Amino acid sequence: MNHSYWCERALLPGGVADSVVVEIADGRFVSVRPGQPAGTAERLAGLTIPGLANCHSHAFHRALRGRTQRDRGTFWTWREQMYGVAARLTPDSYYALARAVYGEMVLAGITSVGEFHYLHHGPGGTPYDEPNAMGGALIAAARDAGLRIALLDTCYLAGGIGQELGEVQRRFSDGDAASWASRVLTLKGADDVVIGAAAHSVRGVPRDQLGTVAEVFPDAPLHVHLSEQVAENEACQEAYGRTPTQLLDEVGFLTGRTSAVHATHLTSVDIGLLGGSSTYACFCPTTERDLADGIGPSAALRAAGSPLTLGSDSHAVIDLSEEMRAVELDERLATQQRGTWSSPELLSAATADGHRSLGFPDAGAIEPGARADLVTVRLDSVRTAGTGGGPETAVFAATAADVTTVVSAGRKIVADSTHLTLDLPRLLTRTIQEVLP
Ligand SMILES: [Zn+2]
Repeated sequence: MNHSYWCERALLPGGVADSVVVEIADGRFVSVRPGQPAGTAERLAGLTIPGLANCHSHAFHRALRGRTQRDRGTFWTWREQMYGVAARLTPDSYYALARAVYGEMVLAGITSVGEFHYLHHGPGGTPYDEPNAMGGALIAAARDAGLRIALLDTCYLAGGIGQELGEVQRRFSDGDAASWASRVLTLKGADDVVIGAAAHSVRGVPRDQLGTVAEVFPDAPLHVHLSEQVAENEACQEAYGRTPTQLLDEVGFLTGRTSAVHATHLTSVDIGLLGGSSTYACFCPTTERDLADGIGPSAALRAAGSPLTLGSDSHAVIDLSEEMRAVELDERLATQQRGTWSSPELLSAATADGHRSLGFPDAGAIEPGARADLVTVRLDSVRTAGTGGGPETAVFAATAADVTTVVSAGRKIVADSTHLTLDLPRLLTRTIQEVLP
């Protein structure tokens, strides 16, 4: 069945156009025609942009929002609190929590999520009867919330370089990379599911195991946390005599399908290696500021050849407008100059480049043949009124609360800023209470 929408304004590959009629069939755009009367098409008032890609997520971290700010602490004290939640999750409670969190994402206009998934096994590291019960719960949660998922199954073997796993961390580990690989090879993708691989970090996976992670899916997305903290760099230098980026380069981990998440504390040599291999740089600015990580060299990475993508990571905030503008605003603070990143560049990171990095290269643009995602931002809220309705409105004025309608692969999931099948926000409150220590 074909369905048509009339967009008052729409962000097309060539820029913003008025009165755009899009025709959708089988979850994809059939035609996109600017300057048309609405006719019988369903009207979308405001600025409609492509679906957003949230390229780095740990769904269960959402339970910590507002709860880790009370006491002064560090990245490492936050991590202890995060482990308290991780210790309690079961496949059922993880499904329920993730479905609510992904529902919040769709409300914010996100139509693909990259889930960096390392909570694989039961307490003490005992596998579930179905060894991929946790990954399966996340796939089901995404589907039931109305978005696509790239399940980035994460290899996590050590508590630090040369260190044993802690008690909770045993749930993350398969023992070695070969055992991890044999488990993930039984995961099945689908039209709305990409199975990708990840190494937690050079802290979490020893050097001699990294190659196995890189090779298990030769064409799929490959992700890794990289140099989020100075302490990681110091430990890597001490153990291996090189930076984490140099180590990853040596074992063949840096490729055009790789995403380096955070990429905060880099040397100029690191930047050259990342850019030279076209590795994506996945920035998560709201998390990085929440955890006091630092500001990554986004402009230097771009100049070297690394495309920018964005993620909400710990979900201190789920709002890709906030992530987009933070990249530019952080640069302003760091350099005392404006205009390093333009709004169209930031929108590319949040849409087409992000989806491509997750293995959905045919999403993130409103054009014939692409997956039919539409995100409509209202232009009559107190935040967006009078801001012009162009790319700057989407990046610098709007918030997730201004998203009124979301169509995901041709299906309308959000209308009037309300999720049509999930009882949000109540579901978030209930599922978070269930998993808090
Ligand atoms: Zn992360």
